[in-house]
Order: sequence, then C-alpha cells, then structure tokens
Amino acid sequence: MIQKFKNKRIAVVGAGLGGLCLAQGLKKNGISCMIFEKDAAMNIRTQGYRIRINKPGRNALKECLPENLYTLFLETCAASTTGMRVFNTSLEESKNELVESWSDGVKEMPDLKPNRLTLREILLHGLQENIQFGKELVSWKELENEETELLFADGTQYIADLVIAGDGVHSKIGAEQCKDQKINTGNITIYGRTFFTDEAKDQIASALHKGTSVILGEQFSLITDAMEFNFPLKNESWNLLAPMENYFYWAFIGNPEAFGLSQSDFYSQSPEEVFECIHKLTDRWHPKLKALFKYADKQSLSITPIRSSLPKKQWKSGSITALGDAVHTMSPAGGVGANTAFIDAALLTENISAALMKNTSIIEAVADYEKKMRIYSNHAVEMSLRGGEILHGTTEKNS
Ligand SMILES: Cc1cc2nc3c(=O)[nH]c(=O)nc-3n(C[C@H](O)[C@H](O)[C@H](O)COP(=O)(O)OP(=O)(O)OC[C@H]3O[C@@H](n4cnc5c(N)ncnc54)[C@H](O)[C@@H]3O)c2cc1C
Repeated sequence: MIQKFKNKRIAVVGAGLGGLCLAQGLKKNGISCMIFEKDAAMNIRTQGYRIRINKPGRNALKECLPENLYTLFLETCAASTTGMRVFNTSLEESKNELVESWSDGVKEMPDLKPNRLTLREILLHGLQENIQFGKELVSWKELENEETELLFADGTQYIADLVIAGDGVHSKIGAEQCKDQKINTGNITIYGRTFFTDEAKDQIASALHKGTSVILGEQFSLITDAMEFNFPLKNESWNLLAPMENYFYWAFIGNPEAFGLSQSDFYSQSPEEVFECIHKLTDRWHPKLKALFKYADKQSLSITPIRSSLPKKQWKSGSITALGDAVHTMSPAGGVGANTAFIDAALLTENISAALMKNTSIIEAVADYEKKMRIYSNHAVEMSLRGGEILHGTTEKNS
C-alpha cells in the first residue's frame, strides 16, 4: 500500500504553518509529498512571534504530528495561564466583559503559546528531503488526467496529481481555483517583542509579566503576552531548535490614523518611523507600560494591513485546492488563522489518506474537505471580524 501512495505526486505550495502541518500528517500516514517554498531558506524573514493555539488547533496538530514532535511542541510552549487582564493606558485595571469573555481555553487546558519560529522548525523536522526552497509558484496549467503542471519563477516545472496551495494571503490558487475574495479591513497590526532583560523586567509593570493583557485605547488596542519558556536543563530534542529567549510579545491592532498614519502611507514607513509613531501614541501612557517599547528589540518590528476573506460560496472541486490563509484570511484579532489552517491540514490528511487507502476518488476527498472547510472557515472569519470590532471599532471594508 505504501508503495502505491508513493506513486501519487502530491504538491504542497508554501512551507508555512498549514502546509508543513499537512505534509507531517501525510507522512504520518505513509504518504509522500513535495513542498515548494518561495523563500530561499526557512528563517529568512520573521513571520510573527507568539502564536496562540486553541483546543481544536492543538487536536489537529496532535493528529498530524508524530508523537515525539507533538511532545516537543508541548514542551517548547511558553507557560500558559487563562484569563485576560484589561487595562487602560494609565495601567488601571478595567472591566470589559467582551474581552474578558474571549475563550482563552479552560483552566485545565489553557490555550498554548508557542514561539512561532520554533513551531515552524518542529513542523519542518523530518521533512527536509521533501522540501525545495527558492521555488516561487508563478502559474499552473491543468493537463489531462487531472494532472497539473506547476511553473516556478526560476523556470522549473513540476507535474502533480494533486496540488494543495498553502501559500498564504496572496495565493493565486486560493483566489482563482477556490474563488477566495479578500478585502482590506482598513486596519493594521504593528507587532514586535521586547526581551526579558533585567532592566526591561524592572521597568515594565509586573502586571504584564504573566499571561495576556489587553490595553484598550481609542480606535486601537494593544495585546501583550509574557513568553516565558520552561527551558530544560538537559533535553537532546531542544538541540534541534534555534535558541530561544524569554520575551514580551506585543501587538497593536487598529486604525492607521490612531498611529498618525494615513491609509496610504504606512507601507512606506521605515521601522524607525513606525517606532516614532508608537512613541508619539504612547507618550502620555503610564511609564511602566510604555517601557515595553523603550526596551523593544528594534529588529522585531513588523507592520501589516489586516485583510479578511469574504464569505465563501461553493466552487467546482478538482485536483487543485488550498488551505490556510490562501483560502481563508482572517483578522488576527480572533487568534484563529493558524488554528484553522491546522484543522484544514488534519481534515485533508484524513480525507486523502482514506481515499488512497480505499482506492476511492481523490477529487471526492477534496470536495468533502472543501465543503466542510467553507462552513468552519466562514465562521472563523466572521468571529475574527467581531473580535476586531471589540479591539478597534467598526471595520471599513475596501476591496
Ligand atoms: C500579528 C499576527 C498574530 C497572529 N496570531 C495568531 C494566533 O495567535 N493564532 C492563530 O491561530 N493565528 C494567528 N495569526 C494568523 C496566522 O499567522 C496565519 O493564519 C497563519 O500563519 C496561516 O498559515 P498558512 O500556512 O496558511 O500561511 P503562512 O504561514 O503565511 O505561510 C505561507 C507560506 O507560503 C510561502 N509562499 C507564499 N507565496 C508563495 C509562492 N508563490 N510560492 C511558494 N511559496 C509561497 C510563504 O513564504 C510562506 O512560507 C496571526 C497573524 C498575525 C499577522
């Protein structure tokens, strides 16, 4: 049976969280695939810092990862607590029932907080022979027998029996094959981190040293998370990973105007200029709160527009599909984009494995995945937009 699986050419486009999770799931079921990643190497750019994994996301990871990697994932998460504390910019604790009622997991099983790069390294482990870097998909051609020819920017091609695009928010396959339409919400996120140096810890309010805190401002919010890792004295598995340090993760989410930026100019800002905007915005904040930015890692700053997919309608299923942000982009305000990508990966793994095992139609397996995914991803997108409205007010939708 394994031999037959090997003959199916499955291509995964994009080695992001979703694509790698799928490749792990297929491998666990004896199915090989080839992953094509645009970047020249794994760690070439930052893609965020902490990522919150909820119960469905954790279950999907458990299904896809071999036991040793799933254990390593659990061990490398930062210490978790439940419940978010809400403050104003003077660091007075306040009540906001909507924020406080956000699911943060239950006491026995709080949401998990891995360092994003570490999670990606774990997901890549054991797949080195299945991945080609420097392969940017530029177009594709449907051939006979449901084969697809993928064409890459370096002029090379690959012919696949099944293509799964996990190539993120700008995916052409997501837009064309799966008819995914995305809008600009008009809001942005600015995120970075601040290492736990003695000086920073001393100057940053102790209330922020544990768990998640939300600071509500006008037309924006700031979310902070203390990322404190439980470094083992000796554990061989940790040697597989790039060294980590404890840090405060922080992310602003809101209207560019709240930062003194116009809708059109924030793309062209240098990190120094963005820091300048943050310093102006936080000038009158409590000193123990704005210390987060005084001691911030200057390299860590990122700014991105918040995009969101429109509700999806049915399309004709075939041997080309998509998962994750490629087919359902959502505001980070809901904290479920990656979790939904993991659910996609687990469902695709299950359906593809069953079809190959029973020798039934792969296209039906894909159609069943797409049917279910449309329902849960529409719900996740909607929930994320509502989360954004709590954090920064109403969304303006521009295409
Ligand atoms: C600030 C912030 C905080 C977030 N926090 C959370 C959170 O706490 N929890 C949560 O669940 N989600 C969170 N998200 C959302 C989450 O990051 C995404 O939903 C998730 O990364 C999607 O994974 P993906 O695999 O679909 O795409 P990505 O992780 O974006 O991966 C896409 C991959 O495809 C590659 N690629 C792109 N184009 C091509 C091409 N043409 N050819 C080949 N390869 C290509 C890219 O280089 C990349 O490696 C957050 C997002 C942001 C911005």
